[in-house]
Amino acid sequence: MDAQQFREFGKAAIDVLADYVENIRDKDVLPSVEPGYLLNALPEDAPEQPEDWQEILKDFNQSIMPGITHWHSPRFHAFYPTGTSYASIIGNMLCDGLSVIGFSWLSSPACTELEVLTMNWLGKLLGIPEDFLHCSSGPGGGIIQGSASEATLVGLLAAKDKTVRRLIRNDPTLDEDEIKPKLVAYTSDQCNSSVEKAGLLGSMKMRLLKADNDGRLRGETLKNAFEEDRAQGLIPCYVIANLGTTGTCAFDPLYELGPVCNEADVWLHVDAAYAGAAFMCPEYRHLMRGIELSDSIDVNAHKWMPVSFDCSAMWVKDGYDLVRAFDVQRIYLDDVKTENKIPDYRHWQIPLGRRFRSLKLWTVMRVYGAEGLRKHVRDQITLAQYFAKLVRADERFIVEPEPSMGLVCFRLKEGDIITKKLLESLTAKKKVFMVAGTYRDRYVIRFVICSRLTVKEDVDYSWKQIKDETDLLYTDKIHTKAQIPAIDQIVAREICEKSK
Ligand code: PLP
Repeated sequence: MDAQQFREFGKAAIDVLADYVENIRDKDVLPSVEPGYLLNALPEDAPEQPEDWQEILKDFNQSIMPGITHWHSPRFHAFYPTGTSYASIIGNMLCDGLSVIGFSWLSSPACTELEVLTMNWLGKLLGIPEDFLHCSSGPGGGIIQGSASEATLVGLLAAKDKTVRRLIRNDPTLDEDEIKPKLVAYTSDQCNSSVEKAGLLGSMKMRLLKADNDGRLRGETLKNAFEEDRAQGLIPCYVIANLGTTGTCAFDPLYELGPVCNEADVWLHVDAAYAGAAFMCPEYRHLMRGIELSDSIDVNAHKWMPVSFDCSAMWVKDGYDLVRAFDVQRIYLDDVKTENKIPDYRHWQIPLGRRFRSLKLWTVMRVYGAEGLRKHVRDQITLAQYFAKLVRADERFIVEPEPSMGLVCFRLKEGDIITKKLLESLTAKKKVFMVAGTYRDRYVIRFVICSRLTVKEDVDYSWKQIKDETDLLYTDKIHTKAQIPAIDQIVAREICEKSK
């Protein structure tokens, strides 16, 4: 493919994507394909001869598109959002067009420096304490990781290294291999699956402590857990606090957890993967009270900001904690020595190579401006509140807990089984997509405002699907009180256990 064909293919591809966004409401949110559909549609072997871009685009439209779940449809309400925008797509394109690997300053100075700059911009926008920014006088700074999962793991590995060094410094007779198996990490039973996985990957026991009735890990619970473990000769090492749990978007009180961790010399990592974006709006900053007591913070710009995956913004109070843990030298990596405020980012992350991810953050922050980004968050919260009002007006439903950010959890009063049946019927119809959660051992449907395209009429549309399906469930001849009994607590508990 030559430069001319690149221009033509590129322009045609942009047209396909712009049409896709403009017409996304015409499509069911879930695809109508069976497992194996694409493997049957496309050749088993790669082509021997070069093919025309027109043929490739034709196959994209005919074979790939039908197998897409439309995450950016305003009727997609599952999980949490994944961001995108035209500005971000262009930023990603520029990144791919340059295709540099920025593991050191010299490997592409702009790649490192734009990341330093945009992490300062974003940190200031979110109200992250100055200590965590490159522009402070201390050793703090930000990095773009690929995902919140990576950030949690990076924090865990750095905490492990820091704890081992501290203990050996205090008592040189201690042995690293004896310390490591005794280290323990803590989080709440409401944590994202990626947090538990970090414990598995980092070979550290991860205790999922019981959250309170509102889904929050309390300081007292953490303190007791530290004491229990110390009594057994174990060593508290790492705590992951959740600001915006995946299940119900609950916020752990950092002002309680922080002092407990600081007292015990335990690394506190804040997972604010989804809800952290709300801190752009000063009215939500009270939810991160105590954040200055943490050691690392992660906010996925690729969730609730209009930035495409992957762009997970992580700040650490002391970058040297990462460098000490991950610095491996080779002669071919021995290039320009930078001033301390410009990091060699390879020491701050798991892989060696790294994409020029800050380009998309930069394009988005410039195209939207801080005001545009705050408006995006506020509009989505307003839409979630509107949805909650619609649900509450229908006496068959309960909204529980109180809606938090763009998430509304609701259920049918009649019980967990019929609520589950409602979700299954809606999923089978493919018009709207939501997933289940649990709240106080009850089965709930999670409804999240996900797409940046969502407007009030879209929420009306989604609610109509839910309401009509509920009408059908209640009028359906199959549905009689005898066949769908009032909530059977044992079955309900089983459903809840499975969905955790
Ligand atoms: N933490 C929370 C609270 C989440 O909701 C999610 C994903 O939804 C994650 C972490 C994992 O994010 P990532 O896919 O960037 O690893």
